[in-house]
Amino acid sequence: METENPAGSYGKQAYTQVGKLGEFGLIKRLTEKIILKQPSSIKGIGDDAAVIEPGKDEVILFSTDMLAEGIHFDLTYTPLQHLGYKAVSVNVSDICAMNGIPTQITVSIGVSNQFSVEALEELYKGMRFACEEYGIDLVGGDTISSHSGMVISISILGRAKKEEVTYRNTAQVDDIVCVSGDLGAACAGLLVLNRGKEMFNNDPEAKPDLTGYEYVLKRQLMPQARVDIIGLFKTEHIVPTAMIDISDGLSSEVHHLCEDGKIACIIDEERIPINDVVKKVADEFKTSPMAYALSGGEDYELLFTLSKKDFEKIKNSDKLKRIGEIVTASHGISFRDRAGKLHPLSAKGWDGLQGEN
Ligand code: ADP
Ligand code: MG
Repeated sequence: METENPAGSYGKQAYTQVGKLGEFGLIKRLTEKIILKQPSSIKGIGDDAAVIEPGKDEVILFSTDMLAEGIHFDLTYTPLQHLGYKAVSVNVSDICAMNGIPTQITVSIGVSNQFSVEALEELYKGMRFACEEYGIDLVGGDTISSHSGMVISISILGRAKKEEVTYRNTAQVDDIVCVSGDLGAACAGLLVLNRGKEMFNNDPEAKPDLTGYEYVLKRQLMPQARVDIIGLFKTEHIVPTAMIDISDGLSSEVHHLCEDGKIACIIDEERIPINDVVKKVADEFKTSPMAYALSGGEDYELLFTLSKKDFEKIKNSDKLKRIGEIVTASHGISFRDRAGKLHPLSAKGWDGLQGEN
């Protein structure tokens, strides 16, 4: 799939209108290239329900996520292939956050009759690409017409051994807090895209130059769920003590982990991984990149806690970084700045940064 120039717009070009094809014709066009690969997918698209073989000695994980145009995505700069990929990724990320393996999805779309069939084919191309990459099957869905914008709802099935399922609320005092990848990039990407849109709205001749921002644009438009981290846990025989995926910013997720777990933690400012492009964008917007990492959303990295013994096994991996430790609830959730001073960390971020936001 093309990713070199993620920004662009082909969402509303008029080719064949969806209304001309009818529901069944549309479903056929969108789903004819789908092939099933999971041995557990007995029957996919084409009957009243998909048929899935349950795994032996395993539990089923089930989750769903809905994306609405104008709220979760903007078709003026979101290529539909990327949107399809992202819609699948955010669901896969939820299964990863339970330490599970994703297996099947269903895709329901609400779309106006004026929308082009070719544009929807782009959406499905992105979803098929994601399914291939994550090794999952698209086994069904629903199609309805919508009067106000596009809606995409994906449900996902996954599997895990019962004793390996990882919840949010089970971190223990003295555990090490880790994060996969780096933070704040998706938020920086969104700001760059919105700045470009504004420039274009003010002057339709203006062509925003997005060179040099590729990393953050890709992180916003085409986030990858961290199935690799779950694979690493399996090969190293590690079960995290608690885990959550970062969809709303580190501070908010840290609060979920601690409030649900009745413990607290200390997060170290100097350990929070932030990419140089994020720093450049923050500089241009005259704010702190730490604000993006703490309060920006949509990074879809994993935040997890490990026992000290398990942490030793993977501490040299470049896929994850130690960012703090779990302490007793009476310490409160805090942020240790570079000078070693502790500050309370609210769910929205560190108060010391809010003046800069
Ligand atoms: P029903 O009326 O029984 O719900 P539909 O005509 O809606 O059946 O769907 C026919 C088949 O196509 C079903 O297997 C359904 O899961 C699948 N399907 C419908 N819409 C979509 C879609 N947008 N994407 C993928 N599969 C779809
Ligand atoms: Mg239906």
